Amino acid sequence: MTMEKYDSQSIVKEIDNLFEQLFPICRSITGNGVRKSLSILKKITDFQINEIPSGTICYDWKVPNEWNITDAYVKDSSGKKIIDFQKNNLHVVNYSVPIDTMLTFEELETHLHVLKDYPDSIPYRTTYYKEDWGFCISYEQFKKMDKNSKYHVKIDSTLKPGNLTYGEYVIEGNSGKEFIFSTYCCHPSLANDNLSGLVLWILLLHKLKSVKTNHTYRFIVVPETIGSIAYLSLNEKMMKNVLGGFILTCVAGPGKFSYKQTFLGDDLIDNIVRKTFTELELDLKQYNFDITGSDEGQYSCPYFRIPIGTICKDKYHEFEYYHTSKDNLDFVDANYLAETFNVYYSVVMNLEKISLMDFENHLQKKSNLKKPNSKMDETYRSLNPYCAPMLSKRNLYPTLGGKIKQKAANSSTEHFEQKFNITDGKSLSGTELDAILWVMFYSDGQMSLFDISKKIGFPLNILRNIAEILCKKNLLEKIT
Ligand code: ZN
Repeated sequence: MTMEKYDSQSIVKEIDNLFEQLFPICRSITGNGVRKSLSILKKITDFQINEIPSGTICYDWKVPNEWNITDAYVKDSSGKKIIDFQKNNLHVVNYSVPIDTMLTFEELETHLHVLKDYPDSIPYRTTYYKEDWGFCISYEQFKKMDKNSKYHVKIDSTLKPGNLTYGEYVIEGNSGKEFIFSTYCCHPSLANDNLSGLVLWILLLHKLKSVKTNHTYRFIVVPETIGSIAYLSLNEKMMKNVLGGFILTCVAGPGKFSYKQTFLGDDLIDNIVRKTFTELELDLKQYNFDITGSDEGQYSCPYFRIPIGTICKDKYHEFEYYHTSKDNLDFVDANYLAETFNVYYSVVMNLEKISLMDFENHLQKKSNLKKPNSKMDETYRSLNPYCAPMLSKRNLYPTLGGKIKQKAANSSTEHFEQKFNITDGKSLSGTELDAILWVMFYSDGQMSLFDISKKIGFPLNILRNIAEILCKKNLLEKIT
């Protein structure tokens, strides 16, 4: 296959233009930052923007109050702003409640977040589901703070009933086969994760609208986790028909291309991606499906089981600047994003070539794979098969978001070992949180704990402990 040549000059210019406009905006899972960002994307090509009111129940979750922020700072006793939201919106823990008070250094310190391992970077932290406030600063800056000063702390934010905003557009084909392209709009000034995904999403939508496609392509832009769960709950019937798709994220870094496989690993989506890379003669680093990724865990949950792949150029969790202030416009490059755009477009063109006969064969093969489980194996069924359960309301999740898989923040692992009293936690290949998510993800009444253990490489006794805890929390039931 020859590469479909995009007009590289004009697309690179367009990407740069969008980067500049969108990067400074303080986005979150709700609020005016998302609205403003989507309205900028809408100028490239039209799509629908929808709002879901706060308090709406979406499976196990509830749309939170809307958060907006205008300013935030910390001033020292001389009145000098030493932390300033206007200079970098990562300085404020996303979803911080308003505050205006004087504090000692000791009092303030418990609300400061730093990355000791990356002393010149500001970390990205969130507190969506616990009312709290905080500031993020570089460790260098933290060390310079006067321990004897009094500090004026101000966060000018609001958290009240409003809406969750998301975008969608469906390109209708006539084959009766449907695929999705989903991305997330909730990260503030972070470039690769995930401003690059937003930009790719709109460019791909624009391009595919101009082509007559056989298949249907559903484009969704939502805040991560709550947005995809809300979308699935509102579009349950339609989403059951989706054959597969992609999460667009982290697509403009300087590294090599990588591919995070679907939960099946050898689905049609996986095969099409590998075939496309071979045809384009591009190197590809492949990753297994991982439960602590983006929204693929929601789309692929026991009820929906939509296989979702992700092609990255510097995948989240893997690049050094992930979730820090160094994931900025100096890290990404419009040319890299243009390359990824070309890969995704080629993937779609390969999807377009699949005959209906091949689809039937594929679906047949898939249904034959379901094996009856052996009576010897302990098997569980999720009582919450619609997306991930909300773990924080059951005290099973760290409330401070943003730091999962970040090297400098391993405290959550210790936290879980204590909570569950798992003394052998050190031998785990991941955290207990991962184990909870995996057990919930695979427990569909068919796959046994032994199968799950083999699949994810966690010891069976750990999974047994986890399953027991989840049964007590009414999230799982044992099949007898
Ligand atoms: Zn992220």
